[in-house]
Amino acid sequence: MPGFEIFGDEERKQVNDVLETGVLFRYGFDGARKGHWKAKTLERELAERLGVAHAHLCASGTAALSTAMAACGIGAGDEVIVPPFTFVATIESVLMAGAVPVFAEIDETLCLSPEGLEAALTPSTKAVVPVHMCGSMARIDEIKAICDKRGLILLEDACQSVGAGYQGRALGSFGKAGCFSFDPVKTITCGEGGAVVTNDKAIYLTADAYADHGHDHIGHDRGAEDHLIIGANHRISELNAAVGLAQLRKLDWILETQRRNKAAIKDAMSGLPGITFRQLPDPDGDSATFLSFFMPDVKTARQAVKALAAGGVDGCFHWFDNNWHYIRHWNHFHTMKAAARLAVQTLANCPDYGTIATPRSDAVMQRTISMQIKLGWTDEQLRRRVEETVKILKAIV
Ligand SMILES: *Cc1c(COP(=O)(O)O)cnc(C)c1O
Repeated sequence: MPGFEIFGDEERKQVNDVLETGVLFRYGFDGARKGHWKAKTLERELAERLGVAHAHLCASGTAALSTAMAACGIGAGDEVIVPPFTFVATIESVLMAGAVPVFAEIDETLCLSPEGLEAALTPSTKAVVPVHMCGSMARIDEIKAICDKRGLILLEDACQSVGAGYQGRALGSFGKAGCFSFDPVKTITCGEGGAVVTNDKAIYLTADAYADHGHDHIGHDRGAEDHLIIGANHRISELNAAVGLAQLRKLDWILETQRRNKAAIKDAMSGLPGITFRQLPDPDGDSATFLSFFMPDVKTARQAVKALAAGGVDGCFHWFDNNWHYIRHWNHFHTMKAAARLAVQTLANCPDYGTIATPRSDAVMQRTISMQIKLGWTDEQLRRRVEETVKILKAIV
């Protein structure tokens, strides 16, 4: 996930276009902006790149998720099925909608499994939010089939997986809406930013209005715009969109480089007995931001992640012990420690988040190690990484 690794002349040029006009706002100021519409241009190019009808930029991936939830009509008391392996933002956006996060198990894809999803369904289930973690995909066709059969809203959190696809179709484009993040640790960055994508015009128009206080955006005079709905301010600035525009145009090169670097390490590890790899429903669609593999058990996984760090192989994560991405260490969430009482806490169907168990996910996460794939490795650094990784893991398994 190398957005932070690249900031070049192309990004500077795009930002300078904005600085020279002084128009930092994405709407209006038509005359002063000298033809520069960075947010609008990025929306058009992103939609084209992903093969979707519409894209709407937001201030962050979290803002995009909140906007998409609102646009899909997810609200008070609705149950939303989510995986326990994600970034907390997925859960926060469900809570901010007044809805109820319901946890379902993952499998060796490291994403929500269709079996887990089926087991978590109740008559109050309104939506399903699979999260395409670490650059690769959930079994999205099977998940979509269940949603279609049951009339559930499918909303993909593809924040970590821009450029990844399943059978030639972009992740984020399978459901009613999909969300992306362009924060600095994602594949491409705006500094801060995110996007909602959809093929549904009504969803797009609601997202477009919701993210800007419900404004209709149909007139030329902003002062005369009506409020279609109650909304929020989830707008991106022209400066952030300008950075993202330069980055999106590098996406193909980024993916190519990641895939090459990942393949070199994965190939070298393939012969190691006792080590297996994350299940990829469509290997060709992997964006290759991480190489995720399974150690025999939690003990060897802990040993390996320590030994890799000590051996100079940086960027390896054992999510089971880490408090960012797996439910096990989200202590604030277990106790519902919020700044103010949340709507969910007033609901009869609010689960006790302190006692939720996801044993199948535990069994997968205990053994999982993910190695971050970088763009900036020299051939020599990559060669040494491959050598060290194999040597270290061989001594453990
Ligand atoms: C990063 C991320 C988000 C939130 O994106 P921000 O732009 O940081 O708000 C949401 N979901 C997942 C899975 C993420 O990795």
